[in-house]
Formats: sequence, C-alpha cells, structure tokens
Amino acid sequence: MTKNFKALVVSETADKRFVREIRERSLEELPAGQVLIRVHYSSLNYKDALSAIGNRGVTRRYPHTPGIDAAGVVEASESPAFAPGSEVICTSYDLGMNTSGGFGEYIRVPADWVVPLPPGLSLRESMIYGTAGLTAALCLERLQQAGIAPGRGDIVVTGATGGVGSIAVALLAKTGYRVAAATGKTEAHAFLRELGAVEVLERKDVDDTSGKPLLAPRWAGAVDTVGGNILATLLRALAPGGAVACCGLVASPELHLTVFPFILRNVSLLGVDSVTVPSMELRRRMWSRLGGEWKLPRLERLAREVTLESLDPEIDRILQGGQTGRVLVRLI
Ligand code: NDP
Repeated sequence: MTKNFKALVVSETADKRFVREIRERSLEELPAGQVLIRVHYSSLNYKDALSAIGNRGVTRRYPHTPGIDAAGVVEASESPAFAPGSEVICTSYDLGMNTSGGFGEYIRVPADWVVPLPPGLSLRESMIYGTAGLTAALCLERLQQAGIAPGRGDIVVTGATGGVGSIAVALLAKTGYRVAAATGKTEAHAFLRELGAVEVLERKDVDDTSGKPLLAPRWAGAVDTVGGNILATLLRALAPGGAVACCGLVASPELHLTVFPFILRNVSLLGVDSVTVPSMELRRRMWSRLGGEWKLPRLERLAREVTLESLDPEIDRILQGGQTGRVLVRLI
C-alpha cells in the first residue's frame, strides 16, 4: 500500500542538534510487522520527550518518530488475532523507541505487541491512561501483592501531579487507600485533592537530608516516580512491612541508603517496568481493570488534548517537570 501520512519527525543535524518537524512520511518507511494501525490518539510521556531530544538511552537511530503510546483502528493485518477495523492499543516493547511511534498517523508493529481495546474504554480514554496509566496500575497491583491493603496506613505518591503520579493518586483513592500526594507545584494542591488525595505534601517534606539511616515511620506504602534521595527518604520512613513501588527517575537514577530499612523493618522495594510486563495476560488484565473496576470517574479532568502541531512546547514542558496530569495527542 503506498500512502503518505503525517508524523512528528526528530532529526539530528550536522552540528549534532536535534530538531523536530511535522512532515509527510510514507507507509513504506515503516518497519515490517503484522499489524498496520491507523492511530487515532497517542499521549505524551517523559520517555517521549527524552526520545525527542536525542537521548540515546531511549532512541539510537534518527530520524525518528517518537510516541510510546498509540490507540487506533487496524487498517491491515497478517494476524488472525486482529481483523481490519478492530480497535486496539499498542504501548511498550520498542514502540516509539527505535520503532516509529504514536506521534505519526500510522504505526506498523508485531501482532504480539497489540492489545484489543478492552470493554469500558474508548480509544481516547485508553490514551488518557496510556503508559502512565498502565504503569500506575502495575504499581497498585505490586503493592496489593505485597500485602499493602487499604487499612494498613497511608500511601504516599511522589511526582504526584505528573502523568504516572496523578493517575496513581486517583487509582489508589478509587481503590480505598488514604493517599498523601507529594508535589513540587504549590498551585496544584487543589487538583490533587480533587483526584482523591487526603493530604498534600511539599516535595521537600519527602526529601530528607538528615543522613539518618531510619526515619520515624510515616507510610504503609508508596508509589515513587522520581527516584534519588526522595526514594531513599521513602524507604527510610516506611512503617514495618511497608513497600515502595519504584517506577521512575525524574529526580535521579541514583539510590543511596543503608540496608537498615530492609533488615530492621522488613520493607520491600518493588520494581515496576511497563515495557517488560512479565506476561501478556497481566498486561491485558491491567487494561481491562482500567476500563472496569478501576475505571476512574471523570478521566477527562486528568488530560489536556493537543494535536501534532501543538505538541512541540509540551515536550519542553514535560522535560522541565512542568506538566500537570496527562497530555493527550489527537491524530484524527
Ligand atoms: P511527568 O513529567 O509527567 O511526571 C514527573 C513528575 O515528577 C513531575 O510532574 C513533577 O511532579 C515531578 N518532578 C519533576 N522533576 C522532579 C525533580 N527534579 N525532583 C522531584 N520531582 C520531580 O513524567 P511521567 O509521569 O511520564 O514519568 C515519570 C517517571 O516515571 C519518569 O522517570 C519516567 O521515565 C518513568 N516511567 C517509568 C515507567 C516504567 O515502566 N517504569 C513507565 C512510565 C514512566 P510534581 O511537580 O508534582 O512534584
């Protein structure tokens, strides 16, 4: 099929700068794969912004179309699992990293990357969640599996106004937890309370620099999207038997602490990676919960909609930690 489509393309210049432009691409430029999808919605994640500025840890080859999230309609398929016309979601794996991603009107991917749109979600709603929502759901699942039930005490969420953070606050509140939301944005306290936080903490409240190996126990659990000294603070301030679901590194990838929280308080550090979810069954179960019993009321309040043409400044804003909630990208 010969056809042109519109996409955001990041290219490297001769003087090693990375520039972004919207341009026509051809379906023939897309990689081989069993399923061709007409993308209706994508969304902006921190990782997309890294890809858009030339971060080689995310994207090795340019020119490149970022977008780790896509939801749309199957246009052509060599897989019996996905008939043309089916509504589907594709996130994770290599999408948007070195495989042309959701910031283009078409993607072509292996069939085993594709998830049928679950009942209860529209394509648009699925991308309000996007990878951020999937990751927040996986964090909740990990905390539940670690025995952190709602009655155990408060759960703190860091980077709370961000994509993963804001959905984590809302999901935990929806599933019966008392949530403390930690944020660097003083203007966003009302937003976090509206999402269900019972307490809003300033970022400095979760960034202890005393050097003490253990702090007074404050929380039963945590979802941490920022890493670094904040993650170390959470681990030192968990109640005995507590657990942190760790998924991000916007503050730092480093983690400096002693073993005392683990050997004197039985706390657990739970890793969460939405790219390598252990099984497709778990991935589908998470999506189906997000459209079912975990579906957030008034999902819309979590997102702002942009088009490919208005995406550029949003990429800079997410890199500066300035986004509140999710940025939905409409491609139809
Ligand atoms: P966002 O930019 O939407 O959210 C990050 C939030 O962190 C910001 O909004 C801000 O929230 C806070 N923040 C920003 N800079 C700092 C800083 N220097 N110190 C402390 N807090 C800061 O990003 P995403 O939600 O898309 O991603 C969050 C993290 O999770 C990223 O590191 C991303 O790579 C990772 N991630 C991991 C996944 C996985 O599978 N493991 C999947 C998806 C994301 P506030 O102002 O409220 O404090």
